[in-house]
Amino acid sequence: MSIIYLDNSATTPLCPEAVAAMEEAMGVFGNPSSLHSVGQEAHTLLTRARGQVAAALGIRSPKPGELIFTSCGTEASALAIYGSVYAKPRRFASRVITTDCEHPSVEEAMRKLEADGIEVVRIPTKNGVLDTEAAISALNTPTLLVSMMMVNNETGAHFDVARVFAAAKQRDSRTVTHCDAVQGLLKVPFTPASIHADLVTVSAHKIHGPKGVGALYVHPDIIRTKRITAFVTGGGQEFGLRSGTENIIGIAGFGGAAQAGSASRGEDQARMVALRDRLEGKLRDMGVQMNIPAGDRAPHVLNLTLPSIKSQTMLNYLSAQGICVSSGSACSSHSVKISPSLAAFGLTAHEADCSLRISFSALNTEDEVDRLCEALGKGISTLVRIRK
Ligand code: PLP
Repeated sequence: MSIIYLDNSATTPLCPEAVAAMEEAMGVFGNPSSLHSVGQEAHTLLTRARGQVAAALGIRSPKPGELIFTSCGTEASALAIYGSVYAKPRRFASRVITTDCEHPSVEEAMRKLEADGIEVVRIPTKNGVLDTEAAISALNTPTLLVSMMMVNNETGAHFDVARVFAAAKQRDSRTVTHCDAVQGLLKVPFTPASIHADLVTVSAHKIHGPKGVGALYVHPDIIRTKRITAFVTGGGQEFGLRSGTENIIGIAGFGGAAQAGSASRGEDQARMVALRDRLEGKLRDMGVQMNIPAGDRAPHVLNLTLPSIKSQTMLNYLSAQGICVSSGSACSSHSVKISPSLAAFGLTAHEADCSLRISFSALNTEDEVDRLCEALGKGISTLVRIRK
């Protein structure tokens, strides 16, 4: 049975460029911190990958410390959040601003901060639109950190973080701005400068690179003014911000994927928009309820609700036919509470439990969209009949 993979927000298949870079790195066993020739060979691969990932973020030659490799996007955001909140010069405030629909990698960090006595203000994202006015007025009180996602992983909502970050910097230059851009990299146009971000989280496996590698962009001023501190300490790798011998094979794969994805980003985005629009048109004709953000959105995600069928039931039905979709964020599929991203669309707990996320990569085809719609149509009539 051929597989139709439509869960690219959870993870993406490796691209040939990532595989080739990893194969090359497998032949290089040196420790990049070693000063001899074998170590330096590994260091060369590390530097090359750093340049490739930085270039995907629009940065030509990264300065020392400007791009820190981590074990995943989750760790990059943890470094951004704990690293900036617990850095020495934080005494001027005890408050953090975020959104009400962050990925658990950010939301759980926020809860830990709250347990530590730090005030966390969550800005609403009703119908997938960030309430920028509420965020800007929240900035009237001194704020340590503003951490907001660029693209929501469940609905594809693309938030205007640039407006909020610019206002934060204008109010108080000491406020640190962090963006979780895991779902935004190569999907929507931005650079750290264009969104006024001091810190930006990215992850390899969402752009056809390997799992288990992420990176944090760090603005040179943040390093100069010591407004970030390491929490994984040891040998001082990654410019002292993330100790531990680097995962050269994974990092090389991230570099390969970033370079390939940057070269084709325009075409890839256009292709995903066309696929999404085709799916949306067909679902509209079928009378399916869709949770479409009222503002900007990224090209690769479409969320829908089938009120009479639990998402797990439909997911299993589609999976039996080789079609892979998600019942929400893969990271939250273990939890039973209503996802805040869907609650923002006014969905009840029952409706949220009947929602599916379809997410594309440029590898998907129109034929796959058509086959998904056919299977969904059959699934709706079969599963509703069984329920009766
Ligand atoms: N942030 C967002 C928006 C995500 O969608 C994900 C993964 O689904 C992450 C962070 C976590 O990235 P990683 O799996 O590399 O830890």
